[in-house]
Amino acid sequence: MKKIQMVDLKSQYEKIREQVNSGIQEVIDTTSFVKGGKVTEFQAELEKYLGVKHVIPTGNGTDALQIALMGLGLKPGDEVITPTFTFIATAEVVALLGLTPVVVDVDMDTFNMSIESVKKAITPKTKAIVPVHLFGQNANMEELLKIAKEHNLYIVEDACQSIGAEYTFSDGRKVKSGCIGNIGCTSFFPSKNLGCYGDGGAIFTNDDDLAAKMRAIANHGMVVRYHHDLIGVNSRLDSIQAAVLLAKLPHLDEYIAARQKAAAYYNKAFASCPKITTPICKDFTTHVFHQYTLKLDASVDRNALQTGLKEKGIPAMIYYPVPLHLQKAYQDPRYKKGDFPVAEKLMDCVLSLPMHTELDEEQLEYITKAVLELI
Ligand SMILES: *Cc1c(COP(=O)(O)O)cnc(C)c1O
Repeated sequence: MKKIQMVDLKSQYEKIREQVNSGIQEVIDTTSFVKGGKVTEFQAELEKYLGVKHVIPTGNGTDALQIALMGLGLKPGDEVITPTFTFIATAEVVALLGLTPVVVDVDMDTFNMSIESVKKAITPKTKAIVPVHLFGQNANMEELLKIAKEHNLYIVEDACQSIGAEYTFSDGRKVKSGCIGNIGCTSFFPSKNLGCYGDGGAIFTNDDDLAAKMRAIANHGMVVRYHHDLIGVNSRLDSIQAAVLLAKLPHLDEYIAARQKAAAYYNKAFASCPKITTPICKDFTTHVFHQYTLKLDASVDRNALQTGLKEKGIPAMIYYPVPLHLQKAYQDPRYKKGDFPVAEKLMDCVLSLPMHTELDEEQLEYITKAVLELI
């Protein structure tokens, strides 16, 4: 049996070796390392794949989120609503820009932002909502769009884990994750569903004015060379990463299908185990399984399970062990332990199993048997 890993990038690479290598070689041959043709080409291909007007490549997903908030022209003190159960980058950029992160709880079933909590968190200072499509499933965007419209708020989607997930509106309209709100952000970190071989990210929008502004911000606030109309940052996708992404993008749908197939295997194997709750998928969205995350019954000793799995050569991770409001750097007199009961319950009961495009049946059988044996 092949070694089991949380993510198996090597086996994935073996299948696209030729395209990746020749793409990288081309970049080196042309020495067009930054803002090269590969970046423009990738941008156009991704716009086509997503059905969105503008893709703005960035240096990573965190930069994408930061540039998005800068593009909205928010002022210090403006409030931005984010879920407490997420990767830190979502709130980090809010805090860095001097904006006020307003934390809300998530739903137990989807791990995504709770609509009721969002409604309660809105104040006259609220300017934007940043839903995170956690683990690869879209948040309830139709409800969020209603709230945003009613209160005149922006929506910046953190689609770092959900690229390719499809949202279906109640009128049947289908839109790709990250292209539903005013702005969407993604990451091409190697372990993400569309990962490059270093750092990378992108911003999506259908708004021409916002796109022009964010494109300038990502490039030192420059519109005409050496004329800086805005205070910006330096955040670019490099050409070598674009070459890798160009080789991988045509496979994204089959990568998603492979993840969904592995998830279906896990779901079936754990279906009759009362101590395990498997991920659910809402009918308004597809799930691209950036992570496959179980919820364990309170009777399960999660540490013992994780250690037992490790001894059998199976990695398992806790995403995320500490919600935002309990992080040291984000301590805030507005929040205390107990304020976000769902997130606090999740941090104690979640466990993510290996999930990637190269899991085979032998590995899945071995993993599921081990979990059921140890639990
Ligand atoms: C990965 C990730 C980010 C940050 O992306 P980087 O490319 O690592 O900066 C932000 N938000 C979420 C939810 C992520 O998973």
